[in-house]
Amino acid sequence: MQKTWQASLKIWGDLRSSVALSKHTTLAVGGKARWYFKAKDKEALQQVLSIIPLNIHVLPLGRGSNLLVSDAGFDGVVLDLGCLQTIAWKNGRLLAEAGCRMSKLAQNAASHGRTGLEFMATVPGDLGGGVAMNAGAFGQQVSDALYAIEILHRDGKNETLTREQLSMQYRYTDLPKDCVVVSACFDLSEKDVESVRMRMRDMRHQRSQTQPLAWPNCGSVFKNPDGDYAARLIEAAGLKGEQIGDAQISEVHANFIVNHGSAKAQDVFALMTLAQQAVKQKFRVDLKPEVRILGELNGD
Ligand SMILES: Cc1cc2nc3c(=O)[nH]c(=O)nc-3n(C[C@H](O)[C@H](O)[C@H](O)COP(=O)(O)OP(=O)(O)OC[C@H]3O[C@@H](n4cnc5c(N)ncnc54)[C@H](O)[C@@H]3O)c2cc1C
Repeated sequence: MQKTWQASLKIWGDLRSSVALSKHTTLAVGGKARWYFKAKDKEALQQVLSIIPLNIHVLPLGRGSNLLVSDAGFDGVVLDLGCLQTIAWKNGRLLAEAGCRMSKLAQNAASHGRTGLEFMATVPGDLGGGVAMNAGAFGQQVSDALYAIEILHRDGKNETLTREQLSMQYRYTDLPKDCVVVSACFDLSEKDVESVRMRMRDMRHQRSQTQPLAWPNCGSVFKNPDGDYAARLIEAAGLKGEQIGDAQISEVHANFIVNHGSAKAQDVFALMTLAQQAVKQKFRVDLKPEVRILGELNGD
């Protein structure tokens, strides 16, 4: 008898079904993933991509720090990339696998006296998510120092893409559809270790003063529109502190929505819609989500 694809996956790692994505996202809302797969290693990842039928949705997951998962969950396979942890220096470049925390990369670069990744000390995601989002802060972003990435296509074939092939812009990377970033390579300038570390400390301190880090959240909900700040516009529209269910537009930073315990994805989305409508009405500005929405949500 022919094996099902689920049985074949079990050879390459840990496959579970009905896994709560609220436990795998920093906002801590949303439903379940139909399947959740933790690959043993990179080869396993490559194999499973070729095994999972192409009509089954696949979602590479990092730290889930930029994801709003709908209450209905995700009908597909979530790929946990925790096995991809290698960091190495090759020909003067920093080469790291996608499952590394960005903060770990920032520390590594600093200890080698290299500048360009200091902002990563303040962004809670993994490198793969950072590349996919072109994460950035304090005037730095992934695309400034990125040299190339290695990806796996949905059918398991690998490819190397240079930064120039990725058309990276503010919080945007033009990745091939449904690909998985497995590693990234950075060109970093030299700088003395102590000043790089001091810059990271300053950034972290500034963050701790201005962001509501005590409650589950997903960082900035909206991208900043050209020449302005989403937080300023939402606050000026009178929505700071606005609450629906257990979700609240933060009183500390109006571009953050915090979960006071049992918020639903629907509550978060309703607040997002409220903010978009109020800012549009008052300032004629369209706020575009920075957070990635997984599944269907209804703003009314
Ligand atoms: C407190 C807080 C502060 C934040 N501050 C910032 C900030 O200053 N700047 C900033 O840019 N962001 C910030 N964020 C948002 C978030 O940390 C970044 O967007 C980060 O890059 C997301 O990484 P992740 O691993 O959590 O990605 P996830 O949330 O897991 O995934 C985000 C998207 O990337 C895709 N993805 C993830 N990994 C891969 C991969 N290996 N290959 C292909 N696609 C992949 C996912 O499918 C999803 O579509 C903040 C979030 C929080 C909670």
